[in-house]
Amino acid sequence: MTLSWILTGAGAGPIAGPRIRASVFSRSTDHGQPPRRACAREILPDRWRWRSLLPVTGRCPSCRVRIGPYLLLAELTAGFALAVTAARASSAWELAALVWLVLLAVPLAFIDVAVHRLPDQLTAAAFGGTLGLLAVAALTAHQPSHLGRAAIGAAALACLYLALSVIRPGDMGLGDAKLAASAGAAASSAARTTITARMIPLPVPPPVTGAASPSAPTTGKRSITARTGGACNSSAPRSVPA
Ligand SMILES: [Zn+2]
Repeated sequence: MTLSWILTGAGAGPIAGPRIRASVFSRSTDHGQPPRRACAREILPDRWRWRSLLPVTGRCPSCRVRIGPYLLLAELTAGFALAVTAARASSAWELAALVWLVLLAVPLAFIDVAVHRLPDQLTAAAFGGTLGLLAVAALTAHQPSHLGRAAIGAAALACLYLALSVIRPGDMGLGDAKLAASAGAAASSAARTTITARMIPLPVPPPVTGAASPSAPTTGKRSITARTGGACNSSAPRSVPA
């Protein structure tokens, strides 16, 4: 993707931030608890803004108590992850798949930090959307085998994390395995992109004398990985009755 796409990805972070914050706020509850609808000091049931958007300050719009990631932290994290994603994608549909995953993985990371769990609703949405968009990317590119690779990557990484959750249940959980399925599908796509890029030979200057020389593919595309995380809501309680 071009520099303009990378800059667009970075700029999309602040736009996505308020929605990410609302997701983090409502889903940062203990297992079995309903989504939060109010801050620590108030009971504000069914107010639409608590479900859709929250300010970048990370504080309650009414009483100013902190209710989410610190100022601009979610926005900067999303912007960085989206910029890296834009740099890695090889097609518009693949970019859509990776952006979808990032927009769910970022709130999941904050929720994991806050309450040490990954809600099924978000991990399921991440997997379904990522694999669905990668399927569209594969079919529109007339490369159905790419979808098979994504499925294999998803299964392989999910099995690895599932095994880790059995071996070390204190460090890993089923939520990690579910999210790993999405990451595996995306990683197989990114790996294929890197391999494809390495197979493209650079232009070779014409021989100085006589016979032609074989071309030597020597591209230098770098792999980039990022791990995001952050703090959320240390002062507010984990759940408030709706
Ligand atoms: Zn409040």
